[in-house]
Amino acid sequence: MSLKNRNAVITGSTSGIGLAYAKALAKEGANVMINGFGKPEDIEKERAGIESEFGVKALYSAADMTKPDQIKGMIDQAVSAFGGVDILINNAGVQFVSPIEEFPIEKWDQIIAINLSAAFHAIREVVPVMKKGGWGRIISTASAHSLVASPFKSAYVTAKHGLNGLTKTVALEVATHKITANCISPGYVWTPLVEGQIPDTMKARNLTREQVINDVLLDSQPTKEFVTPEQVAAIAVFLCSDAAAQITGANISVDGGWTAE
Ligand code: NAD
Repeated sequence: MSLKNRNAVITGSTSGIGLAYAKALAKEGANVMINGFGKPEDIEKERAGIESEFGVKALYSAADMTKPDQIKGMIDQAVSAFGGVDILINNAGVQFVSPIEEFPIEKWDQIIAINLSAAFHAIREVVPVMKKGGWGRIISTASAHSLVASPFKSAYVTAKHGLNGLTKTVALEVATHKITANCISPGYVWTPLVEGQIPDTMKARNLTREQVINDVLLDSQPTKEFVTPEQVAAIAVFLCSDAAAQITGANISVDGGWTAE
């Protein structure tokens, strides 16, 4: 299977799952626009590395997913550089762990903006482009938390449930245009996002680091293993294939059995 001549925009792809998506799509021949924060020299190393390793065009957009005008700018930049956008992966995401009564209001607003509203803005901009191109794949990284809740993650769980609803709605609206829209819902994937929430979970639940990893994180996952970013990215590659043309409005779990319980 080849994604040669396809052009992809992947939000939040300077690390973790997003970077794995970018590499997996580039490996199949797609040009990719990466996005996200980080040290400029690290981002440039990844961007240039993708170009040289896979022989595709790789661009970087510094768009902040909390800013609708910058999201529009990112899609515009991709259209003018590539001539179109065929694949959009809404992946940028942040987490904050706190009991609801202490949940900082600015953290709620930030998580809803990055994890949910950014996908709305990007999809809104990209759908006309995909309709014009006659083909499209919209993929959003949701989470097991788009299907079930955990305590102390009110904003994240709300945003991810919303992303699932947004995806189903868009899937219906674009169904006759050869454009599909799906969510991929990982369980715990070992990335900076998961590592970063360990100290707050230790505090919120009064546990040690090892207890958080084994008794909270992996406790949810019957396989007792973390998912890898590459396993998540492989599902995105499949969703971009012709074999997946009739998969739309779906929410595909990659969670070691978590949501089967
Ligand atoms: P990560 O922290 O490694 O990556 C997050 C990416 O988002 C980074 O590139 C970061 O720079 C970018 N980002 C953050 N704020 C941004 C902003 N305002 N504008 C643009 N980019 C921004 O985390 P990850 O674990 O790879 O998470 C990627 C996605 O996967 C998120 O949506 C997350 O909710 C989801 N997810 C992760 C897990 C997990 O266990 N790691 C599980 C389920 C879902």
